[in-house]
Amino acid sequence: MAVVSTLAAAEPRSVTILGSTGSVGCSTVDLIVRNPGAFRVEALTGNANVELLAEQARRLKPRLAVVADVAGYGALKAALSGSGVEVAAGPEALIEAASRPAQWVMSAIVGAAGLSPTLAAIRRGGLVALANKECLVSAGAVMMAEIERSGAILLPVDSEHSAIFQVLEFDKADCIERIILTASGGPFLRMAAADMERVTREQAVAHPNWSMGAKISVDSATMMNKGLELIEAYHLFPVEAERIDILVHPQSVIHSMVAYVDGSVLAQLGTPDMRTPIAFALGWPKRMKAPAKRLSLAEIGTLTFEEPDPGRFPSMRLAREALQTGGAATTILNAANEVAVHSFLERQIGFLDIARVVERTLGAAANGPVRTLEDVQAADAAARDMAKEFVSRLPGCRRSPPATVNGPP
Ligand code: NAD
Ligand code: MG
Repeated sequence: MAVVSTLAAAEPRSVTILGSTGSVGCSTVDLIVRNPGAFRVEALTGNANVELLAEQARRLKPRLAVVADVAGYGALKAALSGSGVEVAAGPEALIEAASRPAQWVMSAIVGAAGLSPTLAAIRRGGLVALANKECLVSAGAVMMAEIERSGAILLPVDSEHSAIFQVLEFDKADCIERIILTASGGPFLRMAAADMERVTREQAVAHPNWSMGAKISVDSATMMNKGLELIEAYHLFPVEAERIDILVHPQSVIHSMVAYVDGSVLAQLGTPDMRTPIAFALGWPKRMKAPAKRLSLAEIGTLTFEEPDPGRFPSMRLAREALQTGGAATTILNAANEVAVHSFLERQIGFLDIARVVERTLGAAANGPVRTLEDVQAADAAARDMAKEFVSRLPGCRRSPPATVNGPP
C-alpha cells in the first residue's frame, strides 16, 4: 500500500474520526483545527452528545456526521440543516462512516462497541490510528488477520504503544530483549487495600496525570488498563507476553521502553498529553507540531520507578493469565471488565468488586476457539450476561444508582 504523507503535501490528508466527541476524539479535532489546510474531514461520529458533534461538524465540515444513538438523529439533522453535512444514525451508519475512503481513520470509540467500525476501517486498507484498546483485547487475532488481508497499517495511539512504536526497530526484531510498559499506578497507588474498598466514582475517575474518559480512568485506577495494554502490546509487537514487563513510573514522563540484546534501552519521553501520540499518528510518517507542554527534566528533577503491587491490583495478573489461557479468555476478560466498570460507575458495586467480577467470570465462562467476528460476539455476549449475574449477586449491590450518572459523551 502506498503511504500518503501529509502536512507539507499539496493535497490535504482525508481523515475520519470514530468517537470524535470523546477525550481522544476531541484532542484529534483540536490538532486538525490547529493545522488548517492540512486535513479534510470525511466523517465524524459520536454516541449521544449531539450538541458537541454538531459543533464539531459545523467547524470541520465533514461530508458525513453520524450519531450512534438513533434517538439523536432528529436533533443532529436539525442542528446541521443547511450546513451541507450529510447526517445519519445507528450502527449501520457507523460502519458506513468507517468504510468511507478516508486516508486515515481514528478509532476512538470506547469499548467493544468500537470493534465492528474499527474492522470496517481496517477492511478498507489505508491508515488506522488505534486508540481503542478493547478491540485488540477482545478480538486481537481476528483484527490482525484482517490487517494482514487488507494491507491496512495500524498506528498505535495509546501513549505506551506509540512510545514503543517510535523506538522499536522492526527490522531487528530478533534483537529485542524486552518491552517495558510504564504505568502511572493511577490515583490509588499508595492507598491501603481496606480503603480501596470504599473509593467513590469521583475518586476513581480523577487521574493524577492524564485527562481521559470515565472508563479508561477507572481502568487506570484498578490498573486493568495496564493489563489491557499488555494484551494490546502482545498483538502489536513481535515479542511474547513473557518478555513484556510492567513498571510503575508515577510521573508518566517515560511512556515506555524497549530493551535490546546489547544492553541498550530506548525510551520515548514527553509530558502526559495525548495530543503528542495522536499527532505522531496523524502526521505519520512525518512529524507534525503539537501543543503539549514541553518537557523540562530539570523542572521535574526526579523520575522514580517501582514494581507494581499484584496484591492490591490483581487485574494485571488476570489479564496476563487470560493471555496465557488463549481462546476466548481475553474476550471474556474485556467483556466482564466493561460490565464491572459500568456497574461501578453506576454506583452499583464497590471499586474492588470490579476485579472480583472479572475473576469470577473468567473462571465460569465457557472458553472456546475465536476465529471469526461472530465467535468474538458470541463469547462477548455470554460473558456480559454472566458478569451481570455476578454483579447482581454481590453483597450490597444496588440495582439503581442513588444519584444521576452521566453516560459517555
Ligand atoms: P470517551 O468516553 O471520552 O469517548 C468515547 C467516544 O466513544 C465518544 O465519542 C462516545 O460518543 C463514543 N461512544 C461511546 N459509546 C459508543 C457506542 N456504543 N457506539 C458508538 N460510539 C460510542 O473515551 P476516551 O477516553 O476518548 O477513550 C477512547 C478509547 O481510547 C478507549 O478505548 C480508551 O481506552 C482509549 N484510550 C484513551 C486514552 C485517553 O487519554 N483518553 C488514552 C489511551 C487510550
Ligand atoms: Mg495507555
